[in-house]
Amino acid sequence: PARTRFAPSPTGYLHLGSLRTALFNYLLAKRTGGQFLLRLEDTDRKRTVADAEKRLYEDLRWAGLQWDEGPEVGGPYGPYRQSERTHIYHKHAQDLLQTPHAYRCFCTSERLHNLASERSKLGLPTDYDRTCAGIPKDQSDERAANGEAHVIRLKVPERTPIYTDIVYGKVGKNVKPVRRTDEAYDDPILLKSDGFPTYHLANVVDDHLMQITHVVRGTEWMNATPKHMALYSAFGWEPPHFAHVGLLVDENGNKLSKRNFDTDVASFRDRMKILPDALTNFVALLGWSHTVGKDLMSMEQLIENFTVKWTKGNVTVSLGKLWFLQNKHAISHVSQGTATVDRLVADIYEVVKALPDHAQVENRFDDAGWKSYVARILKLDVKNYTSPSNFVAQNSHFFLPYSGSPIPSDERNDVVSSKLKTLVQMENVDWTPETLKQEIHSMVTTVAANDVAEKEGGRIVHEYLRRVFAGGQRGPGMADTMAILGREECSRRLDHVTM
Ligand code: GLU
Repeated sequence: PARTRFAPSPTGYLHLGSLRTALFNYLLAKRTGGQFLLRLEDTDRKRTVADAEKRLYEDLRWAGLQWDEGPEVGGPYGPYRQSERTHIYHKHAQDLLQTPHAYRCFCTSERLHNLASERSKLGLPTDYDRTCAGIPKDQSDERAANGEAHVIRLKVPERTPIYTDIVYGKVGKNVKPVRRTDEAYDDPILLKSDGFPTYHLANVVDDHLMQITHVVRGTEWMNATPKHMALYSAFGWEPPHFAHVGLLVDENGNKLSKRNFDTDVASFRDRMKILPDALTNFVALLGWSHTVGKDLMSMEQLIENFTVKWTKGNVTVSLGKLWFLQNKHAISHVSQGTATVDRLVADIYEVVKALPDHAQVENRFDDAGWKSYVARILKLDVKNYTSPSNFVAQNSHFFLPYSGSPIPSDERNDVVSSKLKTLVQMENVDWTPETLKQEIHSMVTTVAANDVAEKEGGRIVHEYLRRVFAGGQRGPGMADTMAILGREECSRRLDHVTM
């Protein structure tokens, strides 16, 4: 069983890329019967966004990613907020100081700044020159005891540690080396002068203490991994397995950003009205090559079929696929009659209520009546559902005040219209799709009996009905349409165009 974690920093909201990282970790844990942890990497207080933490929990839960251990739910390795674990990082940094792998650095930021600018003028790497690594232990202890400001740095090994990435295979040569030539050393800071840990220290200590077995994260962290490997070996710990998954890019290969569309999960949920399982299905396909044979998968199916076959390199996001999946998930909810149908109906009804002319038709039903009206139309036309606003636009003839213009009489249309006039008055005919289908069929037969072929008769009748009841707009079949509109509304529409 894998123990995985999602370790966001509360510096912004959950977006498509971070949801993908969370989901891959979640699926891997669930597939193997392991645990999925949530850890809040909130040590950078300056960059913390006030409501990010709360929204993160909401967004993850909405997407169906409940964590087994983490903030709010607890667990045996807590606390799960790094800001509450500073004493732990402290202790581990002190432990490392007792080994040859770490040292205190007393250099002022001014010195470091000058060093870097001199070096860059010479075209040399700007990393640290290790001056403080040479300070004897007793002197270093004394200066620290006297309260002199300092950081703790890791002394990186001579060679960049090689490790085997689940996605990239052997990694070492193709990442930034941890040690540079020309007396420059990429000795990362572990503990800052304010006593707060850096990402490197906190991340490694926590992954170890929380017994994480697999780290799945974006390729933007790949350059940090050799340093993490060096840290694991400095502590004498076994590192977890690493998998770095590709950056999300748009169709032009540019990093996904707000320029393309709003990538926040909240925007997919609240603005685009994407269903959670459509979004997780979509996100699961971003960089995962499966052999299931179809892309449509529920969360259960994703878990069941999940593998670590992740693709190398950037991953192109195309929203067409999202709309495709949204449609398929909506169809499956409606056909199974799940609780999500109420959500869809509520979303559609909201758009209906906001139509400019809604006030004119508002009193056709009460709230509950409108909802069941919407539900019937959804059931009939869910195969064309993508979003509430598209759905309402495609089916506007059900929702807008009727404004059909008079249809001039002609021989064949008159046959249909007189039959219709009788029909709306025949109280003994049930106004159901079944009986209406029969009635329409008999209209076709009558028209065809005169002078045209049955097929042509069918076309004439349906075209006419569509003009009368649907303002000529395309949509569900006429018997169903008439049944949903109801006898009274049909009668009204008929009067409207044949007066
Ligand atoms: N806190 C890092 C982030 O915000 C975590 C990176 C990692 O998974 O190691 O993405």
